[in-house]
This record gives sequence, C-alpha cells and structure tokens, in this order.
Amino acid sequence: MTLQTAGIHHITAFAGDPQANVDFYAGVLGLRLVKKTINFDAPDVYHLYFGSEQGDPGTIITFFPFPGARRGRIGGGQVGFTTYVIPVGAMDFWIERLKGFGMSFTRSERFGERYIQFKDNEGLQLELVEREQGPAATWSFGGVPADKAVKGFGGAVLYSVNPERTAYALEHVLGMERIGEFNGFVRFRASGELGNLIDLPMAAAPWGAGGAGTVHHIAWRAADFEQHELWRTQVSGSGFQPTPVVDRQYFNAVYFREEGGILFEIATDPPGFAVDEAAETLGGKLMLPAWFEERRAELENNLLPITVREVGGRTGDGV
Ligand code: ZN
Repeated sequence: MTLQTAGIHHITAFAGDPQANVDFYAGVLGLRLVKKTINFDAPDVYHLYFGSEQGDPGTIITFFPFPGARRGRIGGGQVGFTTYVIPVGAMDFWIERLKGFGMSFTRSERFGERYIQFKDNEGLQLELVEREQGPAATWSFGGVPADKAVKGFGGAVLYSVNPERTAYALEHVLGMERIGEFNGFVRFRASGELGNLIDLPMAAAPWGAGGAGTVHHIAWRAADFEQHELWRTQVSGSGFQPTPVVDRQYFNAVYFREEGGILFEIATDPPGFAVDEAAETLGGKLMLPAWFEERRAELENNLLPITVREVGGRTGDGV
C-alpha cells in the first residue's frame, strides 16, 4: 500500500531582518504570525511561522531570519515559487494592494489558471492564484478582509536538477497523482484541498545556493504519528535515507533529500500550534521547548525585538 500525502504541510525559507520578515508576511500578505520561537538547531535565530488563524497544515510558511544574511540564489534543488491561493474574485484586490505597496509583479498562466508572480522583500518568489478549493480564511489583518485573504498554499513550483527523479519521488514516494502537462510543466495532485497542486518544470534547473530569499525545505503532511512511522518506512523502502523522527514541538519530522536536490520533510498534522499557547494568543510570546526554557533570558537577549504591525501602503512608508 502506498501512502498518499494530503499535500504541503509547511515551507521553510531563509530571511534577513526579522522585523522586515514580519512586516511582509503579516503586514503585506495579511497572514497571522502563529508562532514565534527559535531555530531549535541554532537557537540564536528566530523561527517564525505565518499561516491561517489556527496555523492549519497547508497554510504555514516559516522563516529563519538571520539579520544581515546574504542573499541566496534561487535554482535547482529548491522550491522555485510558493503558490498562495486566494478566493475567486479576489485577484483585483490583490493587484491593487501590491501596487499600493509599490511592488512589481508579472502575470503568468499555467493549466488554464491565471497567476500573478512577485517577490518578497528578500527576493523569495511567490505567486497568487484564485481557486474555489480550500476552506475560507477567518483571519483579517492590515487591511485584508477575511473574504479576500489568502486561504493557504495552492501548491508550489519545484526547481529540480533532475526532474525525472523528482517526478518519481512525487508520484511513488509521496503518492501524488500525475494529472497533466502544460508548456514544459508536469502537474501533480495530492489528496488535500490546500497545498495540493505541485508543478514541476521538466527542464533541469542549474543548482541554486542557499541564503536569504530562498526556500530551505518543503514539508509534506502525515495525518498522525502512527502514519508518520509508516511514512518513514515508505521513504526508506523507496531507497532514500530518512533521518530519525525529530520532535519539532508542533509536529514530528523526518527529512530526506530527493534526487532532484530538494530537501523534503514529512511532518505530522498533530499536535499543532495550540499545544503550548492559547489559540487566541498564538504568536504573542516567544515560545521555547522545555529543553531550552532554562536558557530563556540569554536567548531572548540575543534576539532583535519584533512586532506584528500594520505597514504603510499607499503613503509609501513601510515596505
Ligand atoms: Zn520543516
């Protein structure tokens, strides 16, 4: 039996200044900062999570913001575009909003869908697409009403150094269905309603280089802890070398690199972001896992303060 992922769980990227990161993802895109914690593997850096009101799987983009970080180079072995889905009829609102922030964007079309593509403040490539699918957003912030708000990920465009092998991993390791080809892209579909459409250009991309404005890894959903063990077996049974299960506090994780160079993670839906703070106040306080709590004063002292705030659009201040 091949397990099938519901789609993207989260996408993790590098950024520079943490306040600029908050200003873009909360202030411009209107997402909720659902968790403010540290990089468990490098605790002098924040780990910031932005998503839907409750931080549902399929809506979460996370960042390691290193102040003063050098830019990376987007290329093979990375997520090329992170696709966000907005409600049908909301595109004009977003075009006006991006213009209001002085941001440039380009229009693109794939598989009969219209996209607008733009970059975040560090050059990370994002795109918006209208779809009926996916639960409506409930969060409203910074001039983005809930009925126009980002619902979560629509999917992603993967840049692979070996697209045939990446296609193999999507189909035979993650259990996605290959559903079409368009203009050099192959589209794969996962079983969920968000983060479920993955587009793979079949031309090999030259290797990218990590740094601010690039994606570090993409995580795929496992329904629960029991299924997560089976996922690990499925990954190793397919010839990959998954890491042991790692406790990431809000989910369990297993990592492996597919042969097109992209770092994949399998992450559990549970326990989610309300495991250590109330759903109403998610993201309000620096949260540390128990094993770092005794170092709180020192760790807090190392981090630049950040605030979720409205940022100027039309007036030209802010981003
Ligand atoms: Zn991850």
